Amino acid sequence: MKLPYAEPYKIKMVEPIRPSTREEREKWIKEANYNLFNLTSEQVYVDLLTDSGTGAMSDQQWAAIMTGDESYAGSKSYFNMKKAIEEILGFPLFMPTHQGRAAENVLFSALIKEGDIVPGNSHFDTTKGHIEFRKAKAVDCTIDEAFDTENLHPFKGNVDIKKLEDVFEQNPHDKIPFIIVTITNNTAGGQPVSLENLRAVKAFADSVGKPVLYDSARFAENAYFIKMREASAADLSIKEIVREMFANADMMTMSSKKDAIVNIGGFIACRSKDLWNQISMFNIIYEGYVTYGGMAGRDMNALAVGLDEGTEFEVLNARIKQVEYLGNQLIEYGIPIQKPIGGHAIFVDALKFLPNLPREQYVAQTLAVELYIEAGVRGVEIGTILADRDPETRQDRFPALELVRMAIPRRTYTNNHMDVVATAMKNLWDRRDSITRGFKILEEAQIMRHFTVKLDRV
Ligand SMILES: *Cc1c(COP(=O)(O)O)cnc(C)c1O
Repeated sequence: MKLPYAEPYKIKMVEPIRPSTREEREKWIKEANYNLFNLTSEQVYVDLLTDSGTGAMSDQQWAAIMTGDESYAGSKSYFNMKKAIEEILGFPLFMPTHQGRAAENVLFSALIKEGDIVPGNSHFDTTKGHIEFRKAKAVDCTIDEAFDTENLHPFKGNVDIKKLEDVFEQNPHDKIPFIIVTITNNTAGGQPVSLENLRAVKAFADSVGKPVLYDSARFAENAYFIKMREASAADLSIKEIVREMFANADMMTMSSKKDAIVNIGGFIACRSKDLWNQISMFNIIYEGYVTYGGMAGRDMNALAVGLDEGTEFEVLNARIKQVEYLGNQLIEYGIPIQKPIGGHAIFVDALKFLPNLPREQYVAQTLAVELYIEAGVRGVEIGTILADRDPETRQDRFPALELVRMAIPRRTYTNNHMDVVATAMKNLWDRRDSITRGFKILEEAQIMRHFTVKLDRV
């Protein structure tokens, strides 16, 4: 008999979690103004809010923590991180920041001016926030296939080169500082971008003389999908594919809380010494001196090890197989999810789940709240609340998709936990016709309202 698949690690330390009762959860979520961000972690049983900074570090990463060098300038840990970035990603220059959005803040302070236009593939929410905060505009050039959850295109994160050309045709080039490619495309459902597409974007960017920025949080998962789905890369190692990918970028921002498997950290990497000089000023103002940028030496050490481990095939395979394990159960139950299954999360198509709920009542948020009440599972809305209001008209923006994202932290939960999540979703699916009441907004922030919004049942 063929031996079944099992994880390439064993567990050395555990953290207790406790299930709650439905009555408790109903009370807690009401007190939280029906905003899942307002729950305490103790009120949550299986926390799939995000896979950002929530993964389990390895014994080697913890060992590296103990040898962190906390010198203010020129710490050994900085050079460990520099070596990992140079060897694994191929960038000669880098600057640490405390997380991904800080990297965006520092880099965009140098590159984006009021009135600019930044084309890309479904900009991540903090990325869009940093663009719009500077009174610039993010233009989404993702391929149309991405917005059909049933379409099985293998690279739904891809940039539509025609849409990109249109942006350059319709706007003065001096208003377009760079092109951004998010790998994997988080907002479109953790969907990968093909090597072929990365090369096409770079060729186009070269033709118009613009640099390419990779928003790289899940670059290793992107490389895994390239290996599994792009014939020309099937025989390459993940590390070889990663080098090939980044060879088509001029600069990158990284949230190390994702594929570098650390609890906090980020960085900017680039090839231009000029750019590095420009951003060093902003890094010093906003983050810290250029050799630590808001990170502790021990965290830079863990990050260097994490970049190496996170680009090993077996580590990625275990992770992505667990995401698939959950996704395949939901598919079996007939629950509408984004297909093909992405890298870090399952995205439930809330418009198909609750087709009769008006969009003005925040369909994905309603489903996310129901999931919490059902089993103490915390997912997150990727829909109208996240999309914010149009900065000019102040009207709700209704995105093409209303999704509930269940992000799986790396190496943190077992497949038994995934069974709980799948069963909870199945119970909701069975009683979906009884979910007829959504939410209205009581209070919200100007930008990125999803973190603090207060809601009540309509
Ligand atoms: C998480 C993420 C960011 C922001 O990084 P933080 O570390 O959360 O600040 C930016 N872009 C993408 C694609 C991300 O996934």
